[in-house]
Amino acid sequence: MTESLLTIRDFCVDYVTDEGRVRAIDDVSLDVKRGEILGIAGESGSGKTTLVQALLRILPPPAVISRGEIMFEGKDILALEEEELRAMRWGRISMVFQSAMDSLNPVVTIGEQIEDTFRAHNAKGGRDRAAELLDMVGIPGDRVDSYAHQLSGGMRQRVGIALALALEPSLVILDEPTTALDVIVEREILQEVRQLQRKLGFSVLFITHDLARMLQVSDRVAIFYAARLAEIGPTNELRSNARHPYTRGLLKAFPPIGSGTEARDAHSIPGSPPSLRNPPTGCRFHPRCDQARPECAAREPHQTTLSEGHKADCILTD
Ligand code: ADP
Ligand code: MG
Repeated sequence: MTESLLTIRDFCVDYVTDEGRVRAIDDVSLDVKRGEILGIAGESGSGKTTLVQALLRILPPPAVISRGEIMFEGKDILALEEEELRAMRWGRISMVFQSAMDSLNPVVTIGEQIEDTFRAHNAKGGRDRAAELLDMVGIPGDRVDSYAHQLSGGMRQRVGIALALALEPSLVILDEPTTALDVIVEREILQEVRQLQRKLGFSVLFITHDLARMLQVSDRVAIFYAARLAEIGPTNELRSNARHPYTRGLLKAFPPIGSGTEARDAHSIPGSPPSLRNPPTGCRFHPRCDQARPECAAREPHQTTLSEGHKADCILTD
């Protein structure tokens, strides 16, 4: 599990607005390995969606990629022509959004929508394969002729996952895929994604603000804060040995499931994330950090490797 499928290096994305540039991804480097689930957690506005839109090259204006490199399956994504991008999107990298369940076509059966996906990409597959895909994501194959409105929200979101798996991509991006669902349905869907991922061997980039849920399904976890990577490491290492005060605060707000601490303390991190228009100097987390020292406002932390694959950007550890 060491081979890298996706490599992101020194990556920066800016939103160029009338009031100036807003850096929404600031010098981020990370990898997704073959056959792993990498979780990305961070509060709303920390840059998670911007990062995945950039790697699919579907960033909406006024966002621009200002610096860095993205390599995927040996290809430089930032250098691909439109035709190569079309083949990569969905064929090699697919995505399930929070709103996938609302994006299904209401007047076409779910089976036909899966078949349309095969056709649009000149891939083999008909009704039987569509039914098989539905079955794989927990929808009985005989529902292949159902319309979206005949299915619950959870089932529609499963159709979104079936569509994302239709062309057997090597990377599936899940951007807050279950946020709109109730917790039981959410848990079932995520467990199934994990089983499918183990069986079929694709990699997953799983984004959520819910760290507890993420710890349950991810092999490794990356924590974003205000456009930067605050900490990254193997899930068990982060669960038991988080070093960044922000990660520790998130762990208090979202206690690992089964840890005995079920009550969620939403106030365990005081304040709110900074505006990226005018971020704090030094460590961006220092105004909210209970361990901040004067130095934290004065200089930026260096990224420190704490153990194999575990890195944190905190002045207390560097
Ligand atoms: P997340 O997915 O973590 O909630 P986003 O990637 O959606 O975060 O947004 C990251 C940051 O990018 C926001 O905090 C905001 O500063 C900036 N941003 C996002 N969309 C726009 C936009 N259309 N114009 C200007 N800035 C934007
Ligand atoms: Mg988002």
